Amino acid sequence: MNYIDMHTHTTASDGTYTPIQLVDYAIKKGLNAIAITDHDTIDGIEEAMVYCRKIPNFFVLPGIELSTEYLDEEVHILGYNINYKFKELLNLLNTIQKQRIDRVNQIIHKLNALDISITYEEVIKIAGGGTIGRPHIARILVEKKYVDTIEGAFQKFLNKGAPAYAPRYKLSPCEAIDIIKKTGGHVSIAHPGLIQNKRILNNLLEKEVDGIEVYHPDHKEKNSNEFLTIAKTHGIIVTGGSDFHSPPQNKNKRHGDLGSKTVLINSIEKFLHNIEEW
Ligand code: AMP
Ligand code: ZN
Ligand code: FE
Ligand code: FE
Repeated sequence: MNYIDMHTHTTASDGTYTPIQLVDYAIKKGLNAIAITDHDTIDGIEEAMVYCRKIPNFFVLPGIELSTEYLDEEVHILGYNINYKFKELLNLLNTIQKQRIDRVNQIIHKLNALDISITYEEVIKIAGGGTIGRPHIARILVEKKYVDTIEGAFQKFLNKGAPAYAPRYKLSPCEAIDIIKKTGGHVSIAHPGLIQNKRILNNLLEKEVDGIEVYHPDHKEKNSNEFLTIAKTHGIIVTGGSDFHSPPQNKNKRHGDLGSKTVLINSIEKFLHNIEEW
């Protein structure tokens, strides 16, 4: 049986493995494919795709996880088999990245006003050239012992409503779906079990979505069964992945270890046309 982990992050966003390290780790875990789905960036894809051309029986599905906002909640939209060289997508991602830099600076100012010593240079350094965001700030707050855990950093300072929160660029789920479709890609709703307001999922299912992330480490079995039923009634593809960011020994680990959630490659065949052509 051939399995794919459809939800992974690299150093291009807030993962700890480079794209090449991620591919090596996936092979070690016995996977036959991974989708790279970094937050708001395609920068990790090419390196991994070029690297695995030499590896038999293994491929990388180019993907993305777009951060959107809807009805006051954070909603993540996954794109699969996207043309990651598509100009309009690159322009949009550029705008998002610029706004992320502004936002990180706003958060830093707020933290400084709370007598917390943190600089933009420190955040850039820890992000290592990837998409910068709150996870990187959280890591610094842990390192500097302002809080004990990443989770604590979010709760005390970075979550919406907390004193150092600053809003992100507001992309709507519709805009995210549109751009993924325009690149020729397929859309799946990321970790629907983490969405609080039921209306959000119901409204998303009315849009042009091709799949739903049934299997995710933060889903309870009850969730997965519910989403499996939804996939069947809407005739959409069941997707799943570990949302891998770091190996289990890493103290900043969230979500699952690579390969802990997968689907059969055969079951997502619709998503796999001409991968190598982009
Ligand atoms: P940002 O894109 O900068 O708004 O940061 C959002 C990312 O932070 C999410 O995609 C998660 O990876 C991470 N995150 C959000 N909430 C938490 C939390 N409570 N604890 C740890 N990480 C979190
Ligand atoms: Zn992340
Ligand atoms: Fe997510
Ligand atoms: Fe993710």
